[in-house]
Amino acid sequence: MLILGAGINGAAVARELALNRVSVCLVDTADVASGTTAYSSRLIHGGLRYLEYRELDLVRESLTERTRLLRLAPQFVRPLRMYIPSADRWGGMWRVLRNFLGRGDVSAATRPAAPRGALLVRIGLWLYDRYARDPSLPRHTSHRVGQPGTIAVDPRRYRWLSAYYDAQVMYPERLTLAMLEDARRSSHEHGIAFDVLTYHRTELRGEQVEVFDQRGGSEPVLTFQPAAIVNATGAWVDETLRRLHVDSRRLIGGIKGSHLLTHSAKLRAALGADALYVEAPDGRPVFMLPLGDAVLIGTTDIAYEADPAEAVASDEEIDYLIETAGRVLPQAKLSRDDISLHYCGVRPLPHTGGAKRPGAITRRGWLDRNENCPIPLFSVIGGKITTARSLAEETAATVLDAIGRPVRGNTREQVFAGGEDYPASEVEVRRVCEQLATTTGFDLEQVERVWQLLGTRSRNVLAELSAGDRRCIADTVLPCSLARWMIRHEWARTLGDLVERRLMLLYDQRLKTIGLRQLAEVLVEAGALRSEEVEAELKAYRQRLKEHFGRELTS
Ligand SMILES: Cc1cc2nc3c(=O)[nH]c(=O)nc-3n(C[C@H](O)[C@H](O)[C@H](O)COP(=O)(O)OP(=O)(O)OC[C@H]3O[C@@H](n4cnc5c(N)ncnc54)[C@H](O)[C@@H]3O)c2cc1C
Repeated sequence: MLILGAGINGAAVARELALNRVSVCLVDTADVASGTTAYSSRLIHGGLRYLEYRELDLVRESLTERTRLLRLAPQFVRPLRMYIPSADRWGGMWRVLRNFLGRGDVSAATRPAAPRGALLVRIGLWLYDRYARDPSLPRHTSHRVGQPGTIAVDPRRYRWLSAYYDAQVMYPERLTLAMLEDARRSSHEHGIAFDVLTYHRTELRGEQVEVFDQRGGSEPVLTFQPAAIVNATGAWVDETLRRLHVDSRRLIGGIKGSHLLTHSAKLRAALGADALYVEAPDGRPVFMLPLGDAVLIGTTDIAYEADPAEAVASDEEIDYLIETAGRVLPQAKLSRDDISLHYCGVRPLPHTGGAKRPGAITRRGWLDRNENCPIPLFSVIGGKITTARSLAEETAATVLDAIGRPVRGNTREQVFAGGEDYPASEVEVRRVCEQLATTTGFDLEQVERVWQLLGTRSRNVLAELSAGDRRCIADTVLPCSLARWMIRHEWARTLGDLVERRLMLLYDQRLKTIGLRQLAEVLVEAGALRSEEVEAELKAYRQRLKEHFGRELTS
């Protein structure tokens, strides 16, 4: 089977198929999880908002997957209490009714929206709790603004707070890598092939597929005839079909959404361990989420037609998010100077030709079969990080049926790599990390950081690394040897792969130019970069950090 696209959906399909004893070749024109998967709000959520659009099946499916992920991927997915502030009791009834009846059309979006009142929020949360049926999470509660133990939102603007539980995945990039590790383990177990080729492109010649290394060589590195192709290239689905020269109607209508990351100590302290789900002046939902020692604020919803890889947060989006945060927590005095970085992703939503407002377009995922290809070809449309596993289960069943193979199993009960033998509580996690620090000789802070990236796999990885060079990437707590390990075991090939999607240093303020240089040297040692290319690579990557994320590294 050929899978195009190593985002969360492609990886989830690979995991599902490998479990079903199908050989998989997964090809991506860039890196694993380098598309939309890296630029989401990082929530594993039922989608409270979808209730308003009568997407009851989607809410139920998402909440079931949320419960599953909390249990099977505890190293990455954690419960998160969200607060929704309301200014009045009754507001927003008419608007929500109109959305529920499917009358919330494009023209309605241009009229000022009445904010949703506390009563409406409580009705939504009551339904949400009923759908979730998750005994591990507390039910929703209601509070007066100012009540001790709640977030101190502006009392001049808000009177009530409703609290409920959802979940957060700090690094969807690492969740995607864990899925690929699972696929690799299943393929070893069943003695079948499993290849991941990043920075490769694919050409279709009749029923043959040729895969080329994008970094050089006019000869294909691989030629084979797949039983079927799954096009899981997200916002690039139409472009991929065009490049394969396969006729298709337009499937995707990209909607971009931006986030800001701030290390503002006042804002971080105001949130504590909880999150805020607020309404912007135009009625759009905006999240303010704790992310380690930072706060993630997003998102926006803007139709987008250009290359998704080029999407960047605009000045207007940045101002909009700062203003929205300032309305709720004015005491934090958030300004542009507080913004550590921004990022922008393109939602691979179904094409509606502008008939629907971005917020009203379904977030449900499904599979489209293309009839114009000599090989069975399926494209994954839409979906969410939350439902990637269930969508992959559905995809595998459909594709296996199309090629006359039985479904032998599914991943409903499969623990994600790094979640095996997971300690029962945070206190236990700390105890295990302390033991690991003693046995491996790494500092507790180092062990805890590696644990965030690898979960229980840290035990073996740190034991392996403890025998060698213990130097850290300058100013950070991560050992250089971990970067080497990630190049060997996790398909990392560039500075960006290491910084943005393996070591997650993009979000660490301690990363400096000197650390970047050390990583470039590690790439040289591993043969992924030539020494004469280092200076140009460093310059280009610092430029990317500045232009793409608004982050400037200090030397
Ligand atoms: C602003 C925003 C907020 C979001 N928030 C959430 C959230 O909180 N929770 C949630 O569950 N979901 C959220 N989502 C949705 C979720 O992020 C996406 O639905 C999901 O990441 C899509 O994954 P994907 O694998 O389909 O696409 P991608 O992650 O984009 O992966 C597609 C891959 O295909 C590759 N590719 C492109 N062209 C080719 C080709 N020709 N051949 C091979 N490979 C190719 C790309 O390089 C890329 O790696 C959010 C999305 C956005 C934009």
